Amino acid sequence: MYKNIIVPIDLDKAENGKAMLDKVKELTDEGGKVTVVTVVEDMPGLITAELPEELIQKAAHTGRSSLVDMVKAADLTADVQILSGRPHRVIANLADEIGADLILIASHEPGVQDYLLGSTAAGVVHHAKCSVLVAR
Ligand code: ADP
Repeated sequence: MYKNIIVPIDLDKAENGKAMLDKVKELTDEGGKVTVVTVVEDMPGLITAELPEELIQKAAHTGRSSLVDMVKAADLTADVQILSGRPHRVIANLADEIGADLILIASHEPGVQDYLLGSTAAGVVHHAKCSVLVAR
């Protein structure tokens, strides 16, 4: 179905993430590529200036290993990336850069069904040039 899929995962909503990793297997062509990405929101310079570099590196490392563990648990082969910036823009730009043909994203946090779309999901739908599948 798709050859190059991006699955953005918010590590604070791991429940959604697991469901997306199961779903992406159904959507990927044989030999297709999956990229799992978590975007760490930029912190204001004042805060980062106060944080030791070691602590920032450690947080990135922990995030990466949690993602790698999730990908392994889902029995999936995927490229894992931790990027920083505004999540919806970073996700849409990454899709351009790697020539993704689909972004598979959860609609919002479980339990907030009152909203049609979460802010990141809405931003990705607006900005992405490729197809976006919003999973509910
Ligand atoms: P809500 O506002 O209800 O939390 P979001 O739009 O933020 O909804 O989240 C919906 C989905 O967007 C998440 O389940 C995840 O797939 C993706 N997402 C949100 N934030 C990030 C992030 N920082 N990095 C990667 N993916 C994200």
